[in-house]
Amino acid sequence: NLLVTGATGMLGEKVVQALMELVPAESISITARKPEKAAALKEKGVTVHQADYEDPLSLEEAFTGVDRLLLISSQGDDETRIRQHQNVIQAAKTAAVSLLVYTSCTKADSSTLPVAEVHRQTEASIRQSGLPYVFLRNNWYIENEIDTVKQVLNGGPVLTAAGDGRVGWLPRVDYAEAAAVVLAENKQPDKTYELSGIPYSYADMAKELSLILGKNVPVRNVDERTYREVLLANGTPEPFADFACEIQVATRKGDLEVHSHDLSQLINRPTISLHQSLTEIVHKFY
Ligand code: NDP
Repeated sequence: NLLVTGATGMLGEKVVQALMELVPAESISITARKPEKAAALKEKGVTVHQADYEDPLSLEEAFTGVDRLLLISSQGDDETRIRQHQNVIQAAKTAAVSLLVYTSCTKADSSTLPVAEVHRQTEASIRQSGLPYVFLRNNWYIENEIDTVKQVLNGGPVLTAAGDGRVGWLPRVDYAEAAAVVLAENKQPDKTYELSGIPYSYADMAKELSLILGKNVPVRNVDERTYREVLLANGTPEPFADFACEIQVATRKGDLEVHSHDLSQLINRPTISLHQSLTEIVHKFY
């Protein structure tokens, strides 16, 4: 029995889709805060449990009899996320799952990304739990750049404060497929996978967009203060502008640059190219 948490989210639903290609629906369970969001999955034979990361009892009940479990990291402030992840780890321990798979972030042990501390602490807690684990250190979703692409479609440049920093952008679907393989194939435990595409800079992104749109798309490299000001002027709420700036700074430092074939090896095909995923985003909005 394989269980996916966060299965009604954008990554989780793709994990379950990929998993259904690999194993019978009857061996898949999910947790959802609102089970009605998973009605279609239930119809296909997936077992749907109502559970909340804030409700340890609901987690314990859902995890009973589960073999391998995927914890999709939660959202909110660091304290909330760490507490919620602890609840899941504790319930997984109570249920004595044979593998706890966790979606972490690139170079979690050294990263200065604003999200890294949560992943660092969660990885440490999982190791301390003694449960067999796999860490899926997901790089950045290309979908995070939809606004960057939209700005370009509105005639703007690719704006960045990340300098030559590179990112291993991939669409969620690639990370999801890797997670499904790890769950389905009973991989060797206590492994950390750096899941990434080929790392590219924002200048590379501008070049790809130029090719796709058939016009010159410039890159505008600015310092983080200017970056923040532009975001605020465009109506981005302040906390998100600050968060986005921190990500740019960490990217400039190389925190999202990894050279790893872990993902393509897991899914046994090349990862989706930057050109292809940007083309798909452009077609969605243009
Ligand atoms: P979504 O917001 O689409 O999904 C988050 C999932 O977490 C949802 O299923 C949500 O449940 C669930 N969740 C949140 N809080 C709780 C809770 N208290 N109890 C139970 N479930 C909860 O995000 P994505 O699927 O796109 O991303 C998955 C995770 O990846 C994010 O939560 C975040 O940690 C991380 N992330 C990574 C990024 C990257 O670029 N690598 C970028 C952004 C996020 P519900 O369906 O009920 O809302």
